[in-house]
Amino acid sequence: MAKLTKEGVKRQSRLFVVNLLRAAVVAAVIWFIFGNLDWYAPTLALKPDVGVLGSHTDFLVEAEDKDSGLRDLRVAVQQDGQEKEILARTFPAPALWGFGSKGSRITMIELPFTLDAKALGLKEGKATLAIQAHDYSWRNHFQGRLATLTREVELDLVPLKVTFLGVSHLLKPGGSGLILYRLNKPAKVSGVVVGDHLYRGFPNPGGKAEECVVLFPVPQEGSGSATVDLVARPAVGAAEARQRLALSLKPRKWRSDRLDLSDNFLRQVAADFSSANPGDFLAAYLKVNRELRKENHERVRQVCADSQPQPLWSGAFQRFLGKPMARFGDRRTYMYQGKVVDQQVHLGEDLASLEHSPVTAGNRGVVVLAEPLGIYGQTVILDHGLGVFSMYSHLSQIDVKAGDQVDKGGVLGRTGATGLAGGDHLHFAMMLQGEFVDPVEWWDSHWLKDQVEGLWVKEEAPTPAAKAQGKPAKGKSKARKGQKR
Ligand SMILES: [Zn+2]
Repeated sequence: MAKLTKEGVKRQSRLFVVNLLRAAVVAAVIWFIFGNLDWYAPTLALKPDVGVLGSHTDFLVEAEDKDSGLRDLRVAVQQDGQEKEILARTFPAPALWGFGSKGSRITMIELPFTLDAKALGLKEGKATLAIQAHDYSWRNHFQGRLATLTREVELDLVPLKVTFLGVSHLLKPGGSGLILYRLNKPAKVSGVVVGDHLYRGFPNPGGKAEECVVLFPVPQEGSGSATVDLVARPAVGAAEARQRLALSLKPRKWRSDRLDLSDNFLRQVAADFSSANPGDFLAAYLKVNRELRKENHERVRQVCADSQPQPLWSGAFQRFLGKPMARFGDRRTYMYQGKVVDQQVHLGEDLASLEHSPVTAGNRGVVVLAEPLGIYGQTVILDHGLGVFSMYSHLSQIDVKAGDQVDKGGVLGRTGATGLAGGDHLHFAMMLQGEFVDPVEWWDSHWLKDQVEGLWVKEEAPTPAAKAQGKPAKGKSKARKGQKR
């Protein structure tokens, strides 16, 4: 056994300190790696992804933490500065914190919950869903990493209601009418159903909140009355609000018109429209007059599906200065060699002037179509807002393009005989959301004032004096009486 020298003792104690330091460093590294180091924060997901909620909505919250595992999860709803807890869960800790006994960790969980507006004391309007989860990492002074998810939602609890306020008092078959109505809250869509088509309403241009107006085509047929439905569809749920209205119509008799088809005309049509049966001119013509006409009307509906939400027009529409030929609503019978071969309704006004006369915009609007349109030939369609459109057909030349803004009287092109036309003329049509209506009314400034714009003029509340005397307040239009049922 060697005797320890003074030098030797010194060296050994120095070695001991170095080893101790080394061990401490290794221990710190192990502690850091296995304990504190946590690569992943928890993640949260909420299904379904909806923003507008009814009285009961089922949700599924999904929480995940890949390494240390989930510690807790909490779901709450906030409204007007108050918070209510919907769900709170704490999950078991791993057996040895951080040293990872994998079996006991919760790394992924899906929990269902229901947002029951009444039970939670929530009311109509905005609310916030707030979800948070922690993991078991030693981060944040052993509190764990935090994940949060917030979702702004709109609670839709009060049933939607639609209230009729007034309708144009002179309704002519084939003409236009306006209904004024009120909604108790915003709807996904509202308007009036005529036949099987919904005509969408727009906010009252007079600026009265919650009030809407809808311009609708009055059915062409009907013995003095028509039934339409005022409807409003809610943002969520299927329960739509509906009010049935019985409208009385002025009686109207349509003109009938006979068109004799000559061989020359049929040959010309067959040449203008490529046909499946080139040998049979009559069959080719009937295909164009029936099927292509239908397709063209479908296209008009599509083009007129969207409209500016405010009226772009001002005053009556300008009428093209031409001799009236065929009129709106004419019942046309097509004859060939003395036999009836077809029947159609003419849905515009034919106006004839000098060949290639300039065609001008009936009112201010936006060009939504400027191209050939089957039987209508070269055509321009303008959107005037609130679902009102005008159409100019058989043009020889178009001077505008889709998207252009045009003023009343602005030149759109020149008359011609393109499409299914016997000679140079302008076929002028008016549409409400794609349905053809009688243009004559739109040329009449009195009609426009009394039957359309007069309904949305801001009304002042009747003064007590006027009420007592049974007099209507100034500005109250006769049109507002309507025919409510
Ligand atoms: Zn025509």
